[in-house]
Amino acid sequence: MQNFFSFFLILSFQLLLSQQNPPNIILMIGDGMGLSQISTGMYANGNKTILEEFEYVGLSKTHSLDYLVTDSAASATAMASGVKTLNRAVGIDENNNKQKSILEICKEKDFNVGLVVTSEIVHATPACFYANVSSRYDYEEIALQLSEHSVDLFVGGGEDYFNKRKDKRNLLEEMSGYTFVNSLEEFNKTTSKKIGFFTYPGEPPPKNLGRGPSLESLTEISLNKLSEDKSFFIMVEGSQIDWGGHDNSLNYVLSEFKEFDLAIGKALEFAKADGNTLVIVTADHETGGLSLNGGNVNKSRVRADFNSGSHTGTMVPVFSYGPHSNLFKGIYDNTAIFDKMLTAINEGK
Ligand code: MG
Ligand code: ZN
Repeated sequence: MQNFFSFFLILSFQLLLSQQNPPNIILMIGDGMGLSQISTGMYANGNKTILEEFEYVGLSKTHSLDYLVTDSAASATAMASGVKTLNRAVGIDENNNKQKSILEICKEKDFNVGLVVTSEIVHATPACFYANVSSRYDYEEIALQLSEHSVDLFVGGGEDYFNKRKDKRNLLEEMSGYTFVNSLEEFNKTTSKKIGFFTYPGEPPPKNLGRGPSLESLTEISLNKLSEDKSFFIMVEGSQIDWGGHDNSLNYVLSEFKEFDLAIGKALEFAKADGNTLVIVTADHETGGLSLNGGNVNKSRVRADFNSGSHTGTMVPVFSYGPHSNLFKGIYDNTAIFDKMLTAINEGK
């Protein structure tokens, strides 16, 4: 009888444990990273990409509420909050209603939450995870909203929006709970629970013009910090794949993709060792209408042309690995990426 009782005790304890153990989520967004950017990057990089190690692949429809061709704000709002909205809108629907983001939902569930980007931290893609504004270009307001937010760790450019403002406020002084670090070494060393790392005062330069620190190192350190004591959510953006597309510069696209691919490698390495981490890699849209027209596989040479200086409406791939990764197969709206992440968190391991 006693054995029987303890069996039940152990069983219910294990059930409780499994239900209380939601997966960590690493969402990686390659801005403007369509299938052509991935294919071109893969062949230019010795016919390999870390994306080949993912378990499932899906396709996401990226149109916004008002345009077939989305911008990064509407698309990031769709992925962050599950609503189709207007181009330029950050974290709000077409009636200006604020939308709660997956990062904020995770924070309410006592996750650690973080954002690591290679653009300014107030740029459209990361902003959609913490801000609610009708124009993505209202950078000082977005900075103010980040300063009042509960994001545990953030890395990106754009410090000037915090301490060189029209309203003369110094948000860095107001963010008293944060430790601000100035180098990869300081970032690695700090034991603070609230960390801000401004990599550049304004817009970070392209990778091929010397941007540092590498997204790979930033991702690795961020994952170690966020996973120390709790479950976590992080969004890592390869922000400038898009900027290379706007510039119709193949070298720009390739160098940004290469760095992003290495960062994805760090995320996957973490997830494989951890066992309860869901990694999702996708894009907000394609940029440049890139087509891969030729090259040489063995010599890692590619010949590719751009068809647009802007975004295009082609579907973008979604790669997934880890618990609940099977949810991400098939074809769906970008809003479903939010729904699927929420399902993963609510159902636990
Ligand atoms: Mg972006
Ligand atoms: Zn763009």
